[in-house]
Amino acid sequence: METTLRGVGVSHGVAIGEVRHMGTAVLEPPAKQIPAEEAEREQARARKAVEAVAADLMARGNLAGGEAQAVLEAQAMMAQDPELMADVDRRITVGSTAERAVYDAFAAYRELLAGAGEYLAGRVADLDDVRNRIVARLLGVPMPGVPDSDEPYVLVARDLAPADTALLDPALVLGFVTEEGGPTSHSAILARALGVPAVVALPGAGELAEGTVIAVDGSTGDIFVNPSDEKKAELEAAAAARKAALAASTGPGATADGHKVPLLANVGGPSDVPAAVEAGAEGVGLFRTEFLFLDDSKKAPSEEKQIEAYRQVLEAFPEGRVVVRVLDAGADKPLDFLTPADEPNPALGVRGLRTLLDHPEVLRTQLTALAKAAEGLPVYLEVMAPMVADRTDAKAFADACRAAGLQAKFGAMVEIPSAALRARSILQEVEFLSLGTNDLAQYTFAADRQVGAVSRLQDPWQPALLDLVALSAEAAKAEGKSCGVCGEAASDPLLACVLTGLGVTSLSMGSASIPYVRATLAKYTLAQCERAAAAARAADSAEDARNAAQAVLSGE
Ligand code: PEP
Ligand code: MG
Repeated sequence: METTLRGVGVSHGVAIGEVRHMGTAVLEPPAKQIPAEEAEREQARARKAVEAVAADLMARGNLAGGEAQAVLEAQAMMAQDPELMADVDRRITVGSTAERAVYDAFAAYRELLAGAGEYLAGRVADLDDVRNRIVARLLGVPMPGVPDSDEPYVLVARDLAPADTALLDPALVLGFVTEEGGPTSHSAILARALGVPAVVALPGAGELAEGTVIAVDGSTGDIFVNPSDEKKAELEAAAAARKAALAASTGPGATADGHKVPLLANVGGPSDVPAAVEAGAEGVGLFRTEFLFLDDSKKAPSEEKQIEAYRQVLEAFPEGRVVVRVLDAGADKPLDFLTPADEPNPALGVRGLRTLLDHPEVLRTQLTALAKAAEGLPVYLEVMAPMVADRTDAKAFADACRAAGLQAKFGAMVEIPSAALRARSILQEVEFLSLGTNDLAQYTFAADRQVGAVSRLQDPWQPALLDLVALSAEAAKAEGKSCGVCGEAASDPLLACVLTGLGVTSLSMGSASIPYVRATLAKYTLAQCERAAAAARAADSAEDARNAAQAVLSGE
């Protein structure tokens, strides 16, 4: 039977497909005793699970080929190691369940490996993966990590961290649904980067049965469980009509009366560039460089590796503008070698620019790499710092940029309310502002952006947030400087008009949102946007602000 659920739509479009859950970390199976007569059956169960996992790993290896094949085959051999299997059998004979015996036998083997020199210690993660697969199969729960599927699916998860999502195959993920997360969570950002429909903050998402067909409407936040054929056809027709209308709108971002608002792309690295170019982005408004740092939790990428990645992005926009944000580590994006492990409130601790000022060598390498990458290119390079709190922060960042010999504009992100309140003071040190509305909302409303339960307060239509945007834009205008938005607020077409009316000078978003924003902005004049902005700021809630802006723009 068709049922409808409602979450928060965060990435446009419709996806219809089977549910696949992101497997959670394998729980420790309970240490329960089994009677002796069950031992033989348990041993057979353990062997069957081991063989199935090994066969699956071999099959994946065959499909993948190359280096991946060698790794997967080595894992399959680990699973079938005769000594390990003998240990599993022995543990079952003295009363363990199959899952507990596998868990304990692998733990003993793991200890051996971990203490046996660097090369073998490096195999511990592979061993854990094999153990998790066997235990998950025995417990009848989804495999941990990204689903094993050769068919496209809708990914359902509690929430998605950047490290999980690095492993996703975009060709297989039709859409996302998460139980946690708000409109500014990393799940939402990643969905927009991949251009797949997504709904977050859906209570009960975890209970959607594996394999159930669902239709996800990323614009409205509706999830149709077991949709009828008529419903599927209706949703697909509406999505196709919307797509056709968008394709008709092209060119640089501007209001109906020609007030230019450059539409820029948010990217995480060179792999996001083709989508940005295809969407007609006029440059990059936010290059989140922390994705380059996720590969190795122990150290920063080398200067050469960074130069290569920066150059690939800079070269894609000749004569265009590319705004690179220096590393934003900490809080929801911790890095082992930089982020203190014992902070009681990581979001309020050492993150963003604070981390870099504590580790000047990391900042120096990044700025030097950027200077070298931009050498000889006609691009307009701009570099900005995350989490700037005051003029002292802004000056420290600008000093570091000058010391690295960077030929670029230096800017500050406005993500902390103090920076919006004292924007003119910050602008004495830097040449532009960029509003990170995701964190600005988090810190204005004391509402963790990772927590679905407070997503109401993460709504960028909140009038208090609009007030802070207006303050920043007015300060920049008074100083003759620019003030863009690169938080997720810019990707909401109606809100993009309101931000323009508040005086924001550019809008940067996930590439998939650019056509939607371009088409909507082109429908209204600057004066209409200004009236919509004033109406939204006069409201007392996010919902009223949205309705008031909509009423002004639709001429009600
Ligand atoms: C923001 O906070 O709005 C922002 C753009 O940065 P991030 O989402 O990467 O924290
Ligand atoms: Mg931020």
